[in-house]
Amino acid sequence: MKHAVISGAASGIGAHVRQRLENQGFNAIGIDLKDTEVTADLSSPQGRNLAIEKTLKLCQGKIDRLVIAAGLGGHLEDGQLVARVNYFGAVALLDGFNPALETANGRCVVIGSNSAQMRTNPEAPMVEAMLAGDEAKTINVIGDAHGALVYGHSKHALTRAVRHRAADWGKAGIRMNVIAPGPTETAMLQGVKDHPTISKSLDMIPIPQNRFALPEEIAAIIEFLLSDTADHMHGSVIYVDGGSDAQVRPDGF
Ligand code: NAD
Repeated sequence: MKHAVISGAASGIGAHVRQRLENQGFNAIGIDLKDTEVTADLSSPQGRNLAIEKTLKLCQGKIDRLVIAAGLGGHLEDGQLVARVNYFGAVALLDGFNPALETANGRCVVIGSNSAQMRTNPEAPMVEAMLAGDEAKTINVIGDAHGALVYGHSKHALTRAVRHRAADWGKAGIRMNVIAPGPTETAMLQGVKDHPTISKSLDMIPIPQNRFALPEEIAAIIEFLLSDTADHMHGSVIYVDGGSDAQVRPDGF
């Protein structure tokens, strides 16, 4: 039996990915706060350890496909929580599942964001603390900063964390890529739309295609990245954002 592990499988993009992988015949193991095989809170080290332990039992130490989708939006006031889930929760799962991926020659997609390169400072102290794996320092640096200031930085650091692992993990037979969506019609985006001030940030991001993505569109590209067809794609960052990144950073790639 082939196992697919999806964090954030209870909602949005993760739920659509789960459905696609189940349709392909994978045994899907979802990790989320509720409504999944593994119920765990990825904001704390204890919750992450529990998630890893329970999942490894269910998949008998072998993960064929891994999708890291669990995340919180920048509309949340608690910037520390955004960093804990989006960076430390994601990286803990990646590293915790590394041996199980290696055993299966597994493939992995991590959901970043096109915001990782927009209005972010690659040298920001919070990014450096995240990449150093220092959660206490990260939390200290963030202080009472709003989630809006942390979200893009957490995705920036997460994207770099994946690329830092690409050389060794690739040699070990694991394939991993980052997908960088723009605004996508999920519960998270609804939270942004409903926020009295953060919602205005959506009008500041130009989208040449003039619409937000649907979660099934992002899930379809993730399915492709996990497929045999994409077998030579590794360590890549794939923007799926209706052209926003190209418009905002035409000379960056
Ligand atoms: P969503 O809110 O529908 O799904 C996110 C899931 O993560 C939820 O099921 C939620 O319960 C889970 N989650 C949150 N905190 C958790 C925790 N502490 N422990 C365990 N699970 C937790 O949102 P979505 O848009 O499907 O988000 C999926 C991913 O896509 C996220 O990483 C998000 O940052 C990223 N993303 C979303 C957008 C967008 O506009 N929707 C854009 C770019 C990137």
